[in-house]
This record gives sequence, C-alpha cells and structure tokens, in this order.
Amino acid sequence: MAFTAINPATEEVIAEYPAHTPEQIEAAVAQAVTTFASWKMTPFKDRGELMTRAAQLLEDELDSAAALLTSEMGKTFVQAKGEVMKCAKTMRYYAEHAEELLGEEIIASPASRSGIRYEPLGTVLAVMPWNFALWQAVRFAAPAMMAGNVGILKHAHNVPGSALYLESLFLRAGFPKGVFANLFLGHQALADLIADDRVAAVTLTGSEVAGQKVGAQAGANLKKCVLELGGSDAFIIASSADMDTTVPMAVTARIQNNGQSCIAAKRFIVVKERSEEFIERFTKAMSEVKVGDPMDPETNMGPLVNAEQRELIHAQVLDSVAKGAVVRCGGKMIEGTGYYYEATVLTNVPRDSRAGCEELFGPVAVVEVVEDLDEAITLANSTPWGLGGSIWATDPSEIERAINGVESGMVFANAIVASTPELPFGGIKKSGYGRELSAMGIREFTNAKTFYIA
Ligand code: NAD
Repeated sequence: MAFTAINPATEEVIAEYPAHTPEQIEAAVAQAVTTFASWKMTPFKDRGELMTRAAQLLEDELDSAAALLTSEMGKTFVQAKGEVMKCAKTMRYYAEHAEELLGEEIIASPASRSGIRYEPLGTVLAVMPWNFALWQAVRFAAPAMMAGNVGILKHAHNVPGSALYLESLFLRAGFPKGVFANLFLGHQALADLIADDRVAAVTLTGSEVAGQKVGAQAGANLKKCVLELGGSDAFIIASSADMDTTVPMAVTARIQNNGQSCIAAKRFIVVKERSEEFIERFTKAMSEVKVGDPMDPETNMGPLVNAEQRELIHAQVLDSVAKGAVVRCGGKMIEGTGYYYEATVLTNVPRDSRAGCEELFGPVAVVEVVEDLDEAITLANSTPWGLGGSIWATDPSEIERAINGVESGMVFANAIVASTPELPFGGIKKSGYGRELSAMGIREFTNAKTFYIA
C-alpha cells in the first residue's frame, strides 16, 4: 500500500511513499520502548521546554506548514494557517499545564495518606484522519507526550507529507528519537501493531467503520482505546435566535474545512416561526460562498479531498432529491480540474433518504423545520451519533433546555462547536468514547494509580 498525496485542487500527485517494511516497524517500536524508559523519568519542566520549542518552530514555519496542509487536502490557506496556530497554542498549553493537570490527588480514606498518581502508560498508537492532518495528531500528541508517553502515528494514506512534517518538527525541536514517530502502515500492519505487547494503548480519529475495526482489535488485545468518530451534529435555531449572527455562523459551521469536519453542523433544525426567514437568508448566503483555488485569500471553500468523497456526497444528494428533497441552492459538482462541489442547501429531505440519515462529509446542509424547541431537541437526538450540537437563541431558558436536552458529548450556545485545549472533546453513541484535551483527555493515557499508606 502506497501513501500518496494528491493535490485536490490540481489533481496532481505531490509525493508517494511506500509502506514501512517489517524491519523498519520493528526498529521504530524498539526505539519507542527504549525511549519511554527515560522519557517517563524526564521532568515536566524539561518536557515542557521541548514542547514549547516545537510550538515556536511551528509558528516560525506557519506559511510553509499551512501550504502543505492546503496542498494535501484542499482546505483554504487561511484556514490552514488557523489550524497550524491552533496546534502551536495547544502545544504551549500542555507544556505549561500538564504538571498541574496530572498532579497527585490526595483522597481521605482510612489510610494515613492515600490518593491517585497519574503515570504514563507507554507507547500510544494513534490512527488519524486527513481532514485536520496536523491538528488531529497534535490534539493527541501534545497531552500524551507531556504526560510522559511516547507516540507512534499511523496517518491517513493521503497526507504523508503532514505526517512526516510532524515527525521532523518534534525531532528538530529536540525531542529524543522515539518520543514521536511516524509509520506508514497498511491495515494489516496496523492490526499487528495493535496486537504487539509493547503497544500500551490506541486512539483513533476517523469514521465509524474504522472505529469499529480498531476498537475491536484493541478490545481483543485488552488495550486501552479512545475513539473520536463521525457525527451529524444539529444546529438548532430557536424562537429567540438573533438571525444576524446565526446565519453567517450557520454558513461557516457547514462549509468550514470545505464541509469536511466531524463537528461541522450538518442538520439545521429551525422552529417553524423562524423558518422562512432562516431558509431564505441561509440559502442566499450559501449561494454566495466563493468556491475555488484554496490558496486565494478571497476563496471561502476549496475542493473536496478526492474524487471518491465528491462522488459520495453527490450520490447522497441525488438519492434524496429522487425521494423528494428540494435543492434550494447548489447540488452539483463543479466542472473542470479539482474536486469542487457547490455549497448546497436541501429542504424537505425524507428521513429515509441518504442525506436524511447518513453523515454528510461535504458542503451540503439539510434544513429541517419543526414546531417548537422540544421537537427540535427530539429531532437532534434522533440519529445514531452524538458528537456536538449547537443552539442559537438569545433567551437563556431556551439555551438551558438545549444544553440539558441534546444528547451529545458537547453542546455550544451561540457559538460553533469547536475544540479548545481547556475543555474536554469527544462524543457519545456512535461518535465514539473517551475524551481528548483538558484534564480528562490528558488522563486517558495514564495509569490512575491508587496509593494507600496505612
Ligand atoms: P477513515 O476512517 O477512513 O480514516 C481514519 C483513519 O483510520 C486513517 O488513518 C485510516 O487509514 C484508518 N482506517 C480506515 N479504515 C480502517 C480499518 N478498516 N482498519 C484500520 N484502520 C482504518 O476516516 P477519514 O475519511 O480519514 O475521516 C473522515 C471521518 O472521520 C468522518 O466520519 C469524520 O466525521 C471522522 N472524524 C472524526 C473526528 C472526531 O474528532 N470525532 C475528527 C475528524 C474526523
């Protein structure tokens, strides 16, 4: 299996790498084991200095790192720069806060002294997706490495440059060899590595299918596992919504990252009394989205990642239209070079059609009209997923009802669902389990060791 980067805007092959050989994989795992023995003893202060240096390097290399992201998966250069800066910010956050987040906890008990210490687990294997090729990996790596673990990255096959860049960044920052390594692995080699006793834990960010496979392999080998999977998040527009802020945010929530974000809003649920206004203004704003060259600062949305993803989203639209959905704008592939797709709004989407029941990983918004907020919450909860949701309202009681009622790992009010280093990130139901970021995230790959001194 080759790891091939193809620029989705130009359809040109950028680079191709063969999978690592069994000997190379063995050397990387052996190195990880050796390095872990000393890395776990390295003081937080020293680990933090290296992590801060990596953040500084990333900031210094902002333009080239962002251009790499844009070339490999097509997000706009502006958004790619945002991703790079977010990585640097998160590295700095864990450099500064890891020690306090993992501090010894004293718990009163019959002992004279007892409590919990958080110790690193060892080698953590990270299986990552292409859509935020640096961020997803850093979201795992910065806290895990600061906790004293070592990491092996198995990235998606289409972002090999980003994978190699991250490995090189940590080495150039001065991290000992083996604290963070990239391996180009096919799925069988990955399964073998999950089964290897020297790998302590696994984390996967990606689709439900990949989560089921890797989660099952981790389970069969009794390995700790965190899964961050897909979603079909609801964006609820309540009676008291301020449309002037809601409409532009609805557009951003749907088209960010060219529509390919797990936490993008995918279903827009609007109460009847505000529905005409919302549909009209949202459709107008979506039809004005500038689709084109992702390096152009005027562009709002670049291409989809590859031909298959574009065909998939188009098939989902066509299926729903055939079953009665109404295309308010978009709904077509854009002809010419590059995997471009129009920003699309669908209404009257039958629940049993593909856009009505599948994750839409592209710039297609489904708008659903309901009687009231209670029905909106019921509809928001009627999917197999539960990653993040948002409520758009000025009335605090509507906000409270949504935060309490929406079944998901995260609920945001008057803000787009997003991750931030201070808060836990993750989902429930088929969106996965476990949390990344915050105290909860950094503790996922630690042994919460109880101690008891009589
Ligand atoms: P994907 O599942 O195809 O790939 C993700 C990773 O899993 C890749 O490294 C891939 O090689 C690996 N993988 C895929 N199938 C596998 C298998 N059978 N066995 C072992 N490994 C396998 O996902 P993608 O297309 O790269 O990303 C899109 C999906 O990821 C969407 O569903 C999206 O919602 C989800 N996602 C979730 C989050 C989150 O934080 N919850 C973030 C980004 C993306």
